[in-house]
Amino acid sequence: MGPYDYRNSKLSDIVTYRSGRHFLQLPGPTNVPDRVLRAMARPTIDHRGPDFPALTRAVLDGLRRVFGTEQSVFIYPSAGNGGWEAALVNTLSPGDRVMVFEHGFFAAGWARVAERLELAVTVVPGDWHDAVDPATVEQRLREDASHEIRAVLMVHNETSTGVTSDVAAVRRAMDAASHPALLMVDAVSSLGSMEYRHDEWGVDVTVSGSQKGLMLPPGLGFNAVGARAMARTGRAKLPRSYWDWNAMRQFNEDGFFPYTPATNLLFGLREALAMLEEEGLDRVFRRHARHAAATRAAVSGWELTPFAREETRRSNTITAVEMPEGVDADAVRRVILDRFDMSLGGGLGALKGRVIRIGHLGDFNDLMLAGTLSGIEMGLRLAGVPHRDGGVGVALDYLASHE
Ligand code: PLP
Repeated sequence: MGPYDYRNSKLSDIVTYRSGRHFLQLPGPTNVPDRVLRAMARPTIDHRGPDFPALTRAVLDGLRRVFGTEQSVFIYPSAGNGGWEAALVNTLSPGDRVMVFEHGFFAAGWARVAERLELAVTVVPGDWHDAVDPATVEQRLREDASHEIRAVLMVHNETSTGVTSDVAAVRRAMDAASHPALLMVDAVSSLGSMEYRHDEWGVDVTVSGSQKGLMLPPGLGFNAVGARAMARTGRAKLPRSYWDWNAMRQFNEDGFFPYTPATNLLFGLREALAMLEEEGLDRVFRRHARHAAATRAAVSGWELTPFAREETRRSNTITAVEMPEGVDADAVRRVILDRFDMSLGGGLGALKGRVIRIGHLGDFNDLMLAGTLSGIEMGLRLAGVPHRDGGVGVALDYLASHE
């Protein structure tokens, strides 16, 4: 429908209301809880005024707990892409080599950002069905005897495939190779939903964003930064201004930001962090694991195949489901959107048209999952996708019998 034409309108042209809540079952942005919406719906305050430092400190302290770090965390008014760029420009110089373990669309995206910044990028292509292989990391780093590689880039939870990699194992592989490269990890679709331990796992920079496990609208990008990465800023020569960690740290120490922050998103972030703490992070992680298991139960009930090959590497936040040969996954999603008002993730890059991606993360409960899976099962039927009916029932059995 085009813009509303006041002179020639018929009621049927302007009535677009669909009753009930839209099901936003993308693997991000996720459903924003009412408490967070209400927390943001208040007047913006002076970001240089006396009330601001308490807000800054609350969100930075809360984020540290979610990242599993006692070191620096920085918040940008940005997308996750900004977090990727910030990680690179603060630590590297033009022509520096980075090695990207590319197991999906987002790892490839981070590699592209590095290329545009005129870094020398070695992409180690992986099978998108699988996780990053620590043995390959170790071998590739051992081959780099002159330590030309300055940073290793990986995605913890590949949102395009639904595969989770073992960050701690990659760190061990780097240590086994005695390689000094920084370890940079994208935790955009795992932070706040799955266990993440920036310090304990020896990550140098973790990148994330607001719109997934943190239950906020899009608009905030994050970096958690360890001491080794912070120390690299002194000799990192890539141009940077907006993303500069040192300016950010200097202002944050007094509770402020070097430029106008996204104040109302920070109100929302404070509330979201309080909610995660009220539920308890361990319980949040268990909830996500349980919903992922129930989703996989439905997929096997439908006799369809999760894109992630290894059971132990299947993501707790997103399940990508392969559509049978000859089925256009995007047509299935269209039917589900039209008939049931539910948005699912589509295939990205090479997976376009081949998978549907079910987001089961953020502010989510059993009945929301039951509704999500019901919409998918009806959609499979309506779109004529070869499958066995009854996957929803299998998932409900799982939910009813597992606390
Ligand atoms: N990394 C991962 C794993 C993602 O899932 C996404 C977005 O979905 C991004 C990075 C990019 O985030 P943004 O679109 O906010 O830049």
